[in-house]
Amino acid sequence: MKIAILPGDGIGTEIIAEAVKVLKSLDLKFEMETADVGGAAYAASGHPLPEATLNLAKASDAVLFGAVGDYKYDNLERALRPEQAILGLRKALGLFANFRPAICYEQLTHASSLKPELVAGLDILIIRELTGDIYFGQPRGRRTAADGHFPGSDEAFDTMRYSRPEIERIAHVAFQAAQKRSKRVLSVDKANVLETFQFWRDVVTDVHKEYPDVALEHMYVDNAAMQLVKAPKNIDVLVTGNMFGDILSDEAAMLTGSIGMLPSASLNSKKQGLYEPSHGSAPDIAGKGIANPLATILSAAMMLRYSLEQPEAAARIENAVKKVLASGLRTSDIYSEGAHSAGTRKVGTAEMGDAVVAAL
Ligand code: NAD
Repeated sequence: MKIAILPGDGIGTEIIAEAVKVLKSLDLKFEMETADVGGAAYAASGHPLPEATLNLAKASDAVLFGAVGDYKYDNLERALRPEQAILGLRKALGLFANFRPAICYEQLTHASSLKPELVAGLDILIIRELTGDIYFGQPRGRRTAADGHFPGSDEAFDTMRYSRPEIERIAHVAFQAAQKRSKRVLSVDKANVLETFQFWRDVVTDVHKEYPDVALEHMYVDNAAMQLVKAPKNIDVLVTGNMFGDILSDEAAMLTGSIGMLPSASLNSKKQGLYEPSHGSAPDIAGKGIANPLATILSAAMMLRYSLEQPEAAARIENAVKKVLASGLRTSDIYSEGAHSAGTRKVGTAEMGDAVVAAL
């Protein structure tokens, strides 16, 4: 098993070091190779995704990615900005399925903006289609309106579209993920208004015939947005298109209240994947040794489950994280004065990583 380790910028190097520590403590044999990406790669070789890094990613079973970006690169031309590395990797590896779990650990329920009883034990997996929909449909652009309410005026337009194979492959991913969980899939669309999403509903329903052990429910996106804040624990695997997934996955992430805790994965049809925390490079706290490494450690657990066929090792890491939280250790982003019982203690990045290794 070969893993490409791409730490990137800001807190990327600090949090990746802890995830690597955890991986090395497992009784598994990995080949790990590290390469520059993002601003660090631009500074070293003039491009955020150098050829050597791209080739390493392609030749690996999985990529463990820290974070990229720094305000000092904000004035670079778009193609050379650190964030372009992620888009380049997604495209080159054909990563079409984005997994965004929203998990609320019992000990961190106070961090949510919802009542504790609504979120305690929350464990939703949002699966977002990543390469189609209105974000990539052509044509798009600006023109003079030929018709509509104001003919002759300036207008802008985008194209929403999905082909059958694009919907089929994300539906398979969702049903297969559900088979490893509660065997329920909620497909979110806007079939009442949009032709594209009536088609989405039809194709998901067709694919479902191959998964009689999984229950399928359809829901309109406006209702799904409401259910996520009304009764989020009723949702298990939620699959949807690129734009709805973009919005709903951020809404779900916020239910847990702690950005430093959320992993993510993007997979292709060969189960090769890019695994990264949902947060960015946090330049404001970089180099201080206080970043929360748990989202990255949990991303490594997802990597073991979805790309490396090591579900037991994944579960061991997830249980170790729960144990460390139960023991009262908190990085500053999940520590709040007064909201903790005796025994709660603020720790830095490395001490949190060490505690996970000890719990393993
Ligand atoms: P951010 O996620 O980096 O930070 C937002 C806030 O959350 C900051 O206050 C930060 O200190 C805090 N935070 C984030 N991760 C944390 C952690 N693990 N532990 C403790 N606190 C944490 O978002 P931003 O500030 O909007 O962006 C900073 C840079 O990151 C920008 O250059 C942006 O483009 C980039 N970015 C990269 C990715 C990625 O690499 N996938 C994603 C989002 C943003």
